[in-house]
Amino acid sequence: MLTLAVSKGRIFEEALPLLAAAGVVPTVDPDKSRKLIIPTNREDVQLLIVRASDVPTYVEYGAADLGIAGKDALLEYGPEGLYEPLDLNIARCRLMTAAPVGGIASRRRLRVATKYVRTAQGYFARRGIQADIIKLYGSMELAPLVGLADCIVDLVDTGNTLRANGLEPRELIMEISSRLVVNKAAMKMKHRAVCAIVDLLGQAVARQGMHSE
Ligand code: AMP
Repeated sequence: MLTLAVSKGRIFEEALPLLAAAGVVPTVDPDKSRKLIIPTNREDVQLLIVRASDVPTYVEYGAADLGIAGKDALLEYGPEGLYEPLDLNIARCRLMTAAPVGGIASRRRLRVATKYVRTAQGYFARRGIQADIIKLYGSMELAPLVGLADCIVDLVDTGNTLRANGLEPRELIMEISSRLVVNKAAMKMKHRAVCAIVDLLGQAVARQGMHSE
């Protein structure tokens, strides 16, 4: 049995055509079901529905052999425990700093609200900027509006969420896309099955790339 951890929402939706090309089709729609273990057309493949930021944990500890995770979640988790063989080129967006339109920070130490604590710490440290990172779990855009922080670090796609809250994108930290990750032991113990999926997904990604050019 191969188990693949994936989060609901945009990543799942954009992963579906790639999985189908690799011969894996879920038999239950996770948006319409409360099931967290989703069977597929293949008896030897099942999906686990987990929070996006939990995908690396399930895969590192071997509760899932494979996972599909945003690069943002992988950066925050750290690179040591997982293989990352494939950029799936889906759920693309940018990890950015953002601040009130035209605003300039007046504090000596910058206050940054984000759920990406580790990534933000690394980014500001590399730039030699003293920053206090404030961990939030959601609605980051609110923090600068009510004086909790000078700026935020968050994912930006269209920029609509920032604009709706009087914020503007400032610095690009990293281009983000979803990656296939593999448990290190599964790569050895289930080598054939894992490599077959990695190869098929890789071919599907290459075909999608050709179509979008
Ligand atoms: P937007 O308003 O289009 O710039 O989208 C920004 C909002 O959607 C933010 O709350 C982000 O956290 C979220 N978001 C954008 N792109 C992604 C993505 N690829 N994966 C997960 N969340 C995203």
